[in-house]
Amino acid sequence: MTLAAIQKRMKAACEQAARPLSSVQLVAVSKMQTDAAVAAVLDAGQRVFGENRVQEAKERWLPLREKYDDLKLHLIGHLQSNKASVAVALFDVIETIDSEKLAGALKNEMDKQSRPLPCFLQVNTGEEEQKGGVAPRDVEALYKFCQSAGLNIYGLMCIPPVDEIPDPHFALLNKLAKGLGLPHLSMGMSADFETAIRYGSTHIRVGSALFGIRENSKA
Ligand SMILES: *Cc1c(COP(=O)(O)O)cnc(C)c1O
Repeated sequence: MTLAAIQKRMKAACEQAARPLSSVQLVAVSKMQTDAAVAAVLDAGQRVFGENRVQEAKERWLPLREKYDDLKLHLIGHLQSNKASVAVALFDVIETIDSEKLAGALKNEMDKQSRPLPCFLQVNTGEEEQKGGVAPRDVEALYKFCQSAGLNIYGLMCIPPVDEIPDPHFALLNKLAKGLGLPHLSMGMSADFETAIRYGSTHIRVGSALFGIRENSKA
């Protein structure tokens, strides 16, 4: 689907939810996509991209940064604390803080590099064992830790379980964010971004619907 077609669907979903289109940002998830597919989306004007692996993102985006100085790169995958340095240097937004250890490592690097990046806390709304994210009951404590550490927490992010309808997960994330007074919600992917917009999403992360099926569909 073209960028224009995705934007049209976003617009329709926003109208239905009585929200301005400007309240929702498209994060184009370019992981595992070909250079040609990414070039086409850049050509169409998209500048906000999401990647889930630090090394892969670095190889793709460092050269493209030279050409496009208005890129905004979101890290949307799990981050190990020992990669905080590379992540802070490369990305503009970190969406996947889920522990005090990681938050501390990121804050250290942000100070060192003078890059105070906006961050999201990833919430494991389905409480799935294999998935990253902080449990819903622990979000407030992690948020307070981040706040007192001086991190810039913008909002909450979630990836609902693949085999469930996403609505309760989006509703829960919205409620948690409201409770903490956080204005941003990163939720909604190719299959459910319109639903996410209905539940207040401010950042939808769309990969395959925009770029086509990934080269390696396991990722
Ligand atoms: C891959 C990925 C997406 C995009 O998924 P699609 O279904 O291809 O839109 C969104 N968010 C995260 C965290 C991802 O890893």
